Amino acid sequence: MSSPRDQLGRPLRDLRLSVTDRCNFRCPYCMPAAVFGPGHAFLGDTDFISLAELRRLLRQFKRLGVEKVRITGGEPLLRPDVPELVRLLKQELNIPDVALTTNGWLLARNAAVLHAAGLDRVNVSLDSLRPETFARMSGGGPGLGVERILEGIAAASAAGLRVKINMVVQRGVNAGDIPEMAAWARAQGFTLRFIEFMDVGNVNGWQRALVVPAREIVEQLSARWPLEPCSPAYRGEVAARYRYRDGAGEIGLISSVTEPFCRDCHRARLSADGKLYTCLFASAGWNVLGALRAGADDEEIFSFLSRVWLGRLDRYSDERADLLLRHETRQKIEMSYIGG
Ligand code: SAM
Repeated sequence: MSSPRDQLGRPLRDLRLSVTDRCNFRCPYCMPAAVFGPGHAFLGDTDFISLAELRRLLRQFKRLGVEKVRITGGEPLLRPDVPELVRLLKQELNIPDVALTTNGWLLARNAAVLHAAGLDRVNVSLDSLRPETFARMSGGGPGLGVERILEGIAAASAAGLRVKINMVVQRGVNAGDIPEMAAWARAQGFTLRFIEFMDVGNVNGWQRALVVPAREIVEQLSARWPLEPCSPAYRGEVAARYRYRDGAGEIGLISSVTEPFCRDCHRARLSADGKLYTCLFASAGWNVLGALRAGADDEEIFSFLSRVWLGRLDRYSDERADLLLRHETRQKIEMSYIGG
């Protein structure tokens, strides 16, 4: 059976699975401490989708065409059953590509078990190597230090996981660290992915002036280490890739703000409480877990998911410029809830 296409002709290939809305970091661009403080209402214990429920839903997502699953959050490694989830995805459901995005804090102790479970790849978020800038970008909680993230990265690499580094870039905060981060990643042999600061959610103080366009980063790095574009590995690849001409690996650029890629967006997102979202910038989701808990059988779940995908029209990043011009704002879900 060929996989269903949405209203803009896009198939579903990639599922982002948020396994928790909690995080031990308070990155101001994602979970500012003033908003996500002790009074914040996080999901309750019974809200979380269980592994047994995930098993049922994931089977139907696979039937719809999903080939790649990224486990994210919140901080996914705060949830102890992530290795079991990886085993389910890889060994039971045979998902070809299973990846994890993490802040790296709990990676050193989990890397070997994740690899043994079948995890293919890990993306570690690291916005700076300088202690003060790292603290500023990660919310600077007690004891949060860059050394521990570097240990996590080294452990993941030693365990046999493919490692990429994610750096969110903000002008006037860590943009000055771009050359140092690039030099480090080149020396270590890691692909560094620069992420434009995005207007996800409603509380991260996003301003266009804080966005460093991907193009500017390519020009800056190319002046020191000449770069050339790589052709995309597959249609719908999120990052634009460039390789260093001297053979020292490559970089990626996620330019959701300055060069939106909605036309090739093959992603759906499932929140930790089992709601399906068809865009990172969506306002509302479909309560699939609710349907499952109300007794829907597998065929009913499959047609629920198909209906949602067939009706999909989202292209927020393409529309952003117009919305800004019209001073129109939308209430959006938070990144920590739906995952990156
Ligand atoms: N806790 C994990 C981590 O830190 O990687 C996974 C979740 S986090 C929401 C996933 C990714 O989204 C991280 O690389 C993070 O830096 C990125 N992110 C969060 N808020 C962002 C924003 N406003 N703009 C761009 N990237 C953002």
